[in-house]
Amino acid sequence: MHTYAEKTDKIASGKNFLQRKEMMPRPLDIANKKEQGASPVIQRKEGHVDISKHIPEARKLVVQKAVTDAEKMADRAQKTMGGTDHHLYKKWYDNKFNDDKSKNDQKTNERFDFVKKHWVKIYSIFKSRNIHFANTEKRHDDWYAYVYPKDNQYKIYLDTQFWLAKNKGGDSKGGTILHELAHEEAQTEDHVYKMEPAKNLATNSPALAVTNSDNWEYFAERQ
Ligand SMILES: [Zn+2]
Repeated sequence: MHTYAEKTDKIASGKNFLQRKEMMPRPLDIANKKEQGASPVIQRKEGHVDISKHIPEARKLVVQKAVTDAEKMADRAQKTMGGTDHHLYKKWYDNKFNDDKSKNDQKTNERFDFVKKHWVKIYSIFKSRNIHFANTEKRHDDWYAYVYPKDNQYKIYLDTQFWLAKNKGGDSKGGTILHELAHEEAQTEDHVYKMEPAKNLATNSPALAVTNSDNWEYFAERQ
């Protein structure tokens, strides 16, 4: 009687070279593995992130980590929008959103679809586009970062507060990157800053909440 262990040993002993060869991953498998398992750091080396040479080496690592965190948050945000639990959507975008979409007016559902579609787009930036990082052109003590949405590239200028921000939670480094990418991809503005004012928009003016970058950031940070 052959046990499973015996069979495995036989293959592993290498008596049959062909068999061993067949066990080698084929190029397709390698490619798939790369897709699924490649760490974001390796992907970064493939040129998805470009960090200005004027940013010191130690800070480049900080940026890389923030991008990795932002990518994970964007992935979770798009999955949340595609799921059935809408409590974070209600909190940050539209307090009056009804889970039963047939009970919402057309504008309410359009706003939801807009947010859903643009989280997919924001996440895809990490997979398929270059994101550039530069130092702020002029130092502002209370700024995190900024972009020029019409410059035809994803270029984020990092300012004082970015370097002071935490890795996790509200107003994080990764969340800051998503705040800026929302400006680029969803044409958001800064109607208000900070959590309480942002939350008030979701209650009183969802049309402004879905076009306010901090609301996108806090949603992704799951505040
Ligand atoms: Zn902004």
